[in-house]
Amino acid sequence: MKSLWDEREAEGFEGPLGQRVYSSRLLGREPALVLHGGGNTSVKLREADIFGDEQQVLYLKGSGVDLRAIRASDFAPVRLEAVLRLAELDALSDTDMARELRKALTDPSAPLPSVEAILHAALPVAFVDHTHADALITISNSPGGGARVRDLYGDEVVVVPYVMPGFRLAKRFVQEHLHEIAREHLGVVLLSHGVITFGESARESYERTIELVSRAEAYLQERSAWRLALSDAPPPPTTQRVELAQLRAEVARAAGRPMLMRAHQDPLSLAFVRRDDVGRISQQGPATPDHVIRTKRVPLVGRDVSAYAQAYQDYVGELSPRLAADAPPPVDPAPRVVLDPELGVLAIGSDPIDVGITGDLYRHTIEVILRATALGGYQALPASDVFDVEYWYLEQAKLQRPGGQPEFSGEVALVTGAASGIGKACVDSFLRRGAAVVGLDVDPAIETTSEPPGYLGLICDVTDEAQVEAAFEQCVRVFGGLDMLVLNAGIFPPAKPVVELESATWRRVLGVNLDANLVLLRHAHPLLSLSPKRGRVAVIGSKNVPAPGPGAAAYSASKAALNQLVRVTALEWAKDGIRLNSVHPDAVFDTALWTEELLESRAKHYGMTVEAYRRKNLLRVEVTSRHVAELAVAMCGPLFECTTAGQVPIDGGNERVI
Ligand code: ZN
Repeated sequence: MKSLWDEREAEGFEGPLGQRVYSSRLLGREPALVLHGGGNTSVKLREADIFGDEQQVLYLKGSGVDLRAIRASDFAPVRLEAVLRLAELDALSDTDMARELRKALTDPSAPLPSVEAILHAALPVAFVDHTHADALITISNSPGGGARVRDLYGDEVVVVPYVMPGFRLAKRFVQEHLHEIAREHLGVVLLSHGVITFGESARESYERTIELVSRAEAYLQERSAWRLALSDAPPPPTTQRVELAQLRAEVARAAGRPMLMRAHQDPLSLAFVRRDDVGRISQQGPATPDHVIRTKRVPLVGRDVSAYAQAYQDYVGELSPRLAADAPPPVDPAPRVVLDPELGVLAIGSDPIDVGITGDLYRHTIEVILRATALGGYQALPASDVFDVEYWYLEQAKLQRPGGQPEFSGEVALVTGAASGIGKACVDSFLRRGAAVVGLDVDPAIETTSEPPGYLGLICDVTDEAQVEAAFEQCVRVFGGLDMLVLNAGIFPPAKPVVELESATWRRVLGVNLDANLVLLRHAHPLLSLSPKRGRVAVIGSKNVPAPGPGAAAYSASKAALNQLVRVTALEWAKDGIRLNSVHPDAVFDTALWTEELLESRAKHYGMTVEAYRRKNLLRVEVTSRHVAELAVAMCGPLFECTTAGQVPIDGGNERVI
């Protein structure tokens, strides 16, 4: 591992707290040290309070803050003395500890300090860095791991056997190990957990972390336990979407709610799931208990979700007598990681961020398991130690969302023609309501119109069946399935009377507005049938269906035929619980179909100003893409639970339609 310290960069960070911010970010930049809010850092400063009295203040990372992007205000300042005194107690519940730490803050509006506050406070050095370095965990999770670590570092570190993090670890450390700490020590190794380094400067502490980790990496290299063997077996078949969606449906059933699932089929993931011993080495437990709330203790190997759920319930039943009074209730028994020789490594979570975190954590777990196996065997902590962290109130609290789960949490929507106008507005509306969204468009801008990880934009010509199939395949590999489909892509050719309408134009309009939707529906059906909350389709129709206009024969015919297609589909798919509903907008001018010129020429045609033309409806309102999208998306929600083949105008009121 290389030091990323750059003296010039460091000079841009003022004072000890600035230096603390800088080196914390350096640690956060290295995923082999910390991932997603893991690890914590601190600095001790002398500060005067409002009375001018000097006191020692511990600036400690706020709980759950990501080191990679930490700011000075993410550090919680606590009175050192108040925190240190907590170690004198025989026992301290989580709720009591959280309250006492909050009381010790010198700024009541600061974040809650990390659970390792007492440990940081106890170390009599200014800067303290704690990470969950993969290389060290690998060595300590192999047979004789403790002895190997002692052998590797000699007297240069203090080795602490595993104790549950938080108060228990701090208490044990203060009682049994604090007196061993000397200025020459590089740090403390917490077996099966991580490493602590310290120093009088931010740089000293940081460089010591890098040194300890580099030595652990070299140790693995010397024992041929560093290089990871990749799979040279053939890649999995290109069509797996129905199998994947089937598996996700079973996971959702076990979880009692929709979940997202991402397939990882890179060479390392495939090499791991195809090992003969994967059923054994993957079932020992997590690399560090810190991961358990995201990955569960063990992954499911194969596809028998109900057997996994039963085993999980047994594990909770057996170990729940250990639970503290303020422990959280049992979590759902669905797996969070699935290993399948055909499907790869599947990461599962409630939303796109969760799925990403689970995938990252498990990738590092694979590396730790493979390297420890090469070193002589992978050993994790006993299930009871892992369970204690899994059902630790402070850990489960990290998964809670303020305001609860959004409406479409764990669900996947696909929108066609999504680069602009109504399609783009549908994407935005789905994202606001917590869905993962795939947008399709021929316009390459589709790839960047919204942000990952909740959004995936794919260039796709919906009139090309192979491209449509590839898009569905990609949708399911990235998010696990398909729950909601919005048929929006459409074209509107220049107005022409029937006698002048060329067959080529006619065919082109019907190709996009009608034929493509048949193909989309046909390929969506097996996936929508597997949707945990049952599939939904929203169709962007047109006022031209009930009230066609002269000069728009191709457009009107295509939308009317689409309307019939949707009605017949609703008849056929009701038995699968899939509902299809249509909106019929009119005069939505903020879409790609309308240019300023076209708007002016149409207004002139009616002898109106552009402004009056925009509101040429009974209510005199301007109908926007956003209005249409909100209605189409609502049709996928609970409000329309009992409605299929519904057709709702959204046109400000039109005499010809009414
Ligand atoms: Zn830790």
